Amino acid sequence: MKIFNTLSRRKEEFVPLEPGKVKMYVCGPTVYNFIHIGNARPMIVFDTVRRYFEYKGYEVNYVSNFTDVDDKIIKKAMEEGVESEVISRRYIEECKKDMAGMNVKPATTHPQATREIAGMLEMIRTLIDKGHAYAAADGTVYFRTGSFKDYGKLSHKNLDELQSGFREIKVTGEEGKEDPSDFVLWKPKKEGEPYWESDWCQGRPGWHIECSVMAKKYLGEQIDIHAGGEDLIFPHHENEIAQSEAANGKPFATYWMHNAFLNIDTNGHVQKMSKSLGNFFTVREISERYDLQVLRFFMLSAHYRSPLNFSADLMEASKNGLDRILTAAERLRDAGNAAAAQGPDAEEGKLLSQEEAHRTAALELARKFEAAMEDDFNTADAVAAVFELVKLSNSTVSDDSSRAYIKFMEELLGKLCDVLGILTERKAEVLDEEIEAMIEARQQARKAKNFALADEIRGKLLEMGIVLEDTREGVKWKRA
Ligand code: AMP
Ligand code: ZN
Repeated sequence: MKIFNTLSRRKEEFVPLEPGKVKMYVCGPTVYNFIHIGNARPMIVFDTVRRYFEYKGYEVNYVSNFTDVDDKIIKKAMEEGVESEVISRRYIEECKKDMAGMNVKPATTHPQATREIAGMLEMIRTLIDKGHAYAAADGTVYFRTGSFKDYGKLSHKNLDELQSGFREIKVTGEEGKEDPSDFVLWKPKKEGEPYWESDWCQGRPGWHIECSVMAKKYLGEQIDIHAGGEDLIFPHHENEIAQSEAANGKPFATYWMHNAFLNIDTNGHVQKMSKSLGNFFTVREISERYDLQVLRFFMLSAHYRSPLNFSADLMEASKNGLDRILTAAERLRDAGNAAAAQGPDAEEGKLLSQEEAHRTAALELARKFEAAMEDDFNTADAVAAVFELVKLSNSTVSDDSSRAYIKFMEELLGKLCDVLGILTERKAEVLDEEIEAMIEARQQARKAKNFALADEIRGKLLEMGIVLEDTREGVKWKRA
């Protein structure tokens, strides 16, 4: 299996630290708002990487954090007049709902920065003791980048250039720095901010130290894969390497994987989707129009290292593509049920030998799928192989097919879709029940002459894309 490693800037053969196991850390979101679909890209992409390792029989320890102490969280808390924790707790819950909708598996561990402060203080202490960090007069602790000879190895930047570049920029409030390229490990609190006691000052950790500490605690000093969006290469991941390797005296991650951006075209201007530019859609907004499986499928239609432009047309194309797969899976289930009702498998030799040839062709497509995934997780080609399998299934499964052949096709398609995180059962069945329960509640409200409630339920259904029609035979509903 080949993985493009940002460290070496080439594809390398994957060799795990421990045979049969993968230790993987993916930088998670800062939780001060609903996640946007740009944030969803690394979630979907690296969940798919995890699923492929699991398909290959690896045991994956997958850790992804929530950054729950940050300027933006504090600002939002102040605006709402609540504690920071109220904000972070709320958006962690919302993020988990979005992840579930996109069929992103929960991580083995989802650590939260604020619960790992002791480990951070310990690592900062070690860095000071080893001469890699120092405390300034105001209690800020900085990492001494000049003390780590490999600084710049991930982003392929040269420390001398970095230092001279930084020297041009004077940042107020950082007078205590020995060098402008040094970065913060611990900083003093400001009025009204959450803080923790430490040897240096009452304060809070810098962002980078969180990930070094959480990776170490839940995965160990050395890990196989560290991943995130490409904006994290510098300074975040460069700084994580400096902290972890200086503190532990060992190489940190073997492979560094970075997804390219999700962009959006605004009036002919293609830009990265981001909160600060205000050009984003939240996952929640998308979920009002589409099943989030469509969003997932859209993300996987491109290679993770290629920029991807979000557009309504591409979402429609993804919706249709996904529908083709789900319809084929549905047909296989129906055919399987029908064949079962018919009783024994078809005995006719000619038919069975034809099926044998189709099975060979199907397995060939599964190998094509694997080859695409083995080549740095080329999901675009993997999806193409799934479409070919769908075509083969549609053209070869008929009323005469044997039960065994139908089952074989159904399982194979299901297995490959599972790697992509695509559920082959339409979610509609669960949804139908939910919708019908809501319609029933609305009927009850109307009977009780509680028209306000009845209208409210109708409004909620409309938000879910369900249109009601009161007919003589009762209430009918359809998807808008
Ligand atoms: P943040 O909450 O900004 O720290 O971002 C969480 C994760 O989402 C990081 O891995 C980012 O690199 C990633 N990310 C943010 N915006 C985008 C985008 N437009 N496209 C792809 N990944 C993104
Ligand atoms: Zn991180």
